[in-house]
Amino acid sequence: MPECIFSKTWAASMPDRTVIRGGTLVITGLPQADVAMEGGRIVAMGPDLAAAPVEIDARGLHVFPGLIDVHLHFNEPGRTEWEGAATGSRALAAGGGTLFFDMPLNSTPCTVNAAAFDQKRAALAESAITDFALWGGLIPGNVPEMAELADRGVVGFKAFLCDSGLPEFPRADDLTLFDGLREAARLGLPVAVHAESQEITQGMAHAVAAQDRGTARAFLASRPVIAELEAIQRATLLAREAGAKLHIVHVSSGRGVALAAEARARGTDVSIETCAHYLFFTEEDVERLGPVAKCAPPLRHASEQNSLWQQLISGVVDIVASDHSPAPPGMKTGDFGRAWGGIAGVQSTLAVLCERGYHDRGLSPERIASLVAGEPARRFRIPGKGGIAVGADADLALVDLSRSLRLKPEHLMQRHALSPYVGSSFRGNVVRTIRRGETIFLSGEIVARSVGEFVRPSLS
Ligand code: ZN
Repeated sequence: MPECIFSKTWAASMPDRTVIRGGTLVITGLPQADVAMEGGRIVAMGPDLAAAPVEIDARGLHVFPGLIDVHLHFNEPGRTEWEGAATGSRALAAGGGTLFFDMPLNSTPCTVNAAAFDQKRAALAESAITDFALWGGLIPGNVPEMAELADRGVVGFKAFLCDSGLPEFPRADDLTLFDGLREAARLGLPVAVHAESQEITQGMAHAVAAQDRGTARAFLASRPVIAELEAIQRATLLAREAGAKLHIVHVSSGRGVALAAEARARGTDVSIETCAHYLFFTEEDVERLGPVAKCAPPLRHASEQNSLWQQLISGVVDIVASDHSPAPPGMKTGDFGRAWGGIAGVQSTLAVLCERGYHDRGLSPERIASLVAGEPARRFRIPGKGGIAVGADADLALVDLSRSLRLKPEHLMQRHALSPYVGSSFRGNVVRTIRRGETIFLSGEIVARSVGEFVRPSLS
C-alpha cells in the first residue's frame, strides 16, 4: 500500500493563486490562454493574466478538463487485494482523471443498501486521491432500498441483465428491472444496464463448451453481438414504458450503438457508453493476449469496431469509460474459461482516444473532452465538473498530444501491473493532473498531498 501522506487540511495551506500559462484550452475554438485557480476553482481565463505566486508553464500542452470515469470497479471495501481506491485512483490520476463513479460491485458488501453505501463512502474518503461518486445496485429484492440510496447521493442504479460473475450481485429479471426503472424515474436518477441476454449467453456457453472447452474462441462464440442487441432492445423498451433515464454501459458493437440510438429517436431517454478497449482491441487480440484481454461483452471483430468508431465520430456515442475491472494476477492467467472477465485499463482511456481518435481519425480534442468529461458531468448532473470555465472546479489534465510513450508495466499505478495496453505506444501523454487546484500527478509521479471529495448529483 502507498504510504499515507494525506492531510485533509492541506487545502488550507494551498497557495492563494496559481496561473497555468499559455496552454491550448480544450474548449470551443481551442484558444491559447492562461487559467487562474484559487481556492480549488477556476477564477479567471484569458490572455496575459497577471502574475501569481505559483506559475505553471503549459506552453505546447493541451489543457483538458479532468477525466470523469463513470464506470469502474475499485473493489473497496472487501477486495482491496484486487485493487482498492488508493491504487486505483492513482492510476486514474496518471491517466488525467480527477473523478470516478465506483460501481456497486465488486466490493464486499455490494452497494445495494444504505449501510453498504456508508461503508464504501467512508473507505473511499480515506484513500482516493481523486474525487469520487458512487453507483447503487439494482438486484432482485432491493427496490425498497433505492430511495435511501438516492438520499445518500448515488449517481444512479446499476443492473445486470446476465450473470455478473458474483453470486452476491444477481442479475435483474425483467420485473425487477421494470420496477427498478419506475422507482428510479420517481427518484430522478438513471438506471445503468449491462446489456447481454442471459438466455443467449448461458445457452451458447453450454453449447460451445461441449466441443471447445476453455478457449478464447469458445468464450467469444458464447457471447455474440445478438446477445447485446436483444438486451438493449428490451432495456430501452422497459425504460420508455417506465419513463426512466437509461444508461447503457460498455456497448461493444456499432450495431448496439445504432439500436440504442433508434430507441432514443423513438423517445427513450438513453445515454450510450462504450469503453476504450472496444475502440483499441479486436477479437484477434483476445486470442493473441489471452486472459488479460478477457471481458464481457467481449472484444469484437474489426468490422464491428470500425462501425463503433463511425458511431462515435458521428456523435452518437455519449461517453467513453474504462470499465476498469482488475483481478489478482492468478485470476488473469492460465485457463481462459476460468479467468476473471474484466480489463484493467483505467490509466489508458485518454491515451486511446488521443492515439486512435485524434491522431488516426481526426477526432477533435473538444469531442474527446466531451466524451470523457463534459457529457459524464451533464448526464449525471455533477455540479462544477466536466468543463473549463470560470467558477468550475479546477480539475484539469495537461496533455502533450504529440509525445509518444510505449506503456510499460512500471508505468502502471494500479495495484497489479497487468493491462492489455502494456506494450502498446500512445501519442498523447498526460504531463500533469490537477484536482481542485492541487497537482496530484506530475511527470510520471503521484504527488497528491490530500484526498479527494465525495460528490453527488444535483437533482434540483
Ligand atoms: Zn463494469
